[in-house]
Amino acid sequence: MTERDIIGIFGKMNSGKSSLMNLLTQQETSIVDSTPGTTADTKITLTEIHGLGPVKLMDTAGFDEQNVLGLKKLKKTIAALKECDLVLLVIDPATFDYETDKFILEQARSLEKQVIVVYNLFRSTDKNRIDKVEEVLARSRFYHRIVLSAIDINYRQRLLEVILANYIPKNATIDLMPFVEKGEFYILNIPMDEETPPGRYLRPQAMAEEYITRKWAFPVSYRMNLAKARAGDPSEKERWYTFINSFTRKPKAIITDSQAMDIIKDWVPDDMALTTFSIMMINYMSRGRLNEFVSGIRALKSLTAGDHILIAEACNHSRIREDIGTVQIPNLLKNFYPDVIVDYTFGREFVDDLDMKKYKLVIHCGGCMISNQRMAARLRDLNATGIPVTNYGIFLSYVHGEKVLDRVIKPWEK
Ligand code: SF4
Repeated sequence: MTERDIIGIFGKMNSGKSSLMNLLTQQETSIVDSTPGTTADTKITLTEIHGLGPVKLMDTAGFDEQNVLGLKKLKKTIAALKECDLVLLVIDPATFDYETDKFILEQARSLEKQVIVVYNLFRSTDKNRIDKVEEVLARSRFYHRIVLSAIDINYRQRLLEVILANYIPKNATIDLMPFVEKGEFYILNIPMDEETPPGRYLRPQAMAEEYITRKWAFPVSYRMNLAKARAGDPSEKERWYTFINSFTRKPKAIITDSQAMDIIKDWVPDDMALTTFSIMMINYMSRGRLNEFVSGIRALKSLTAGDHILIAEACNHSRIREDIGTVQIPNLLKNFYPDVIVDYTFGREFVDDLDMKKYKLVIHCGGCMISNQRMAARLRDLNATGIPVTNYGIFLSYVHGEKVLDRVIKPWEK
């Protein structure tokens, strides 16, 4: 059964929330009156939006009503904010106090809601005040916006287009590895080290193994001895080629731990596809936005002394000697760009959106320990601030040249 997406309309009293509800439903589902607090409760309409599917629309009471009844409405409005998937924040730019709008935005941010800011013009000249509103309401710049008149039916189509273009539906799914074919072999290269937890695979490795098996294909794991391989010990190379040549039908692709790229790039036969767990994961967690991470790597070309780079790792695993995020990637960065400054963020915390401007590039792990919504929120803030973002797997491939990068991206091109 498809779950309905829930769109909530929020804002101050008399900002035009009910008119927006009526614009969306094309009927008088909400009473429109200039008396403050007309919407006594959250009004709900079940409807269908072409291109999105079944939707529950909620027109809420204003957040800023200040009597006893207002407090009851406030509780219901906050409950609606928690429940909804998309927040339409309606702002009348002709007003001067934006504390309520600020409160709604902060709540929506902390709840990781998707937000579209709707500037509702009661007079066309009110649009001249939007820049002022954005100055006061700095965080509103992180969200897509639309400027309209909610009582003008001609804006309906545009509003729907903005919702469809910018909202990621909750039922949106993405294939973990669209290139996997039934009946084929796939190698998972897992060089275990001191950080590898006993008794289980890391989440990206476990997901890849499960996905390949579910697709009626055959995952085969190889534990590469990276220390020996890097030391040039011929026994490890021999072990690898014995393994690769033992298949009666050649495996279709190798999915490797990104840190093994320095070795595996030269050991994989030319006719076998190659990619990394980290690239697989970031494509999955960002719901198919791998291209943005590939484009982001180009920012390396314009780095200069003193530039800040942020390494973002979405978990707090114990970090031992050769940790990728805190040792391997920083060392490589320092080799190529000795004077850049490397900062870190770990776990669910991320750099404050208003502080992120100082970064020239963010290098993100696969992000398997945060939700798709949290990943989308990070990308939203980075996009709005104009900060390029790339990924561990992309970085660790690119440092070996464009050809290696092209090769690890190729399986995802379809
Ligand atoms: S959150 Fe990042 S670093 Fe941690 S296991 Fe997942 S992909 Fe790896």
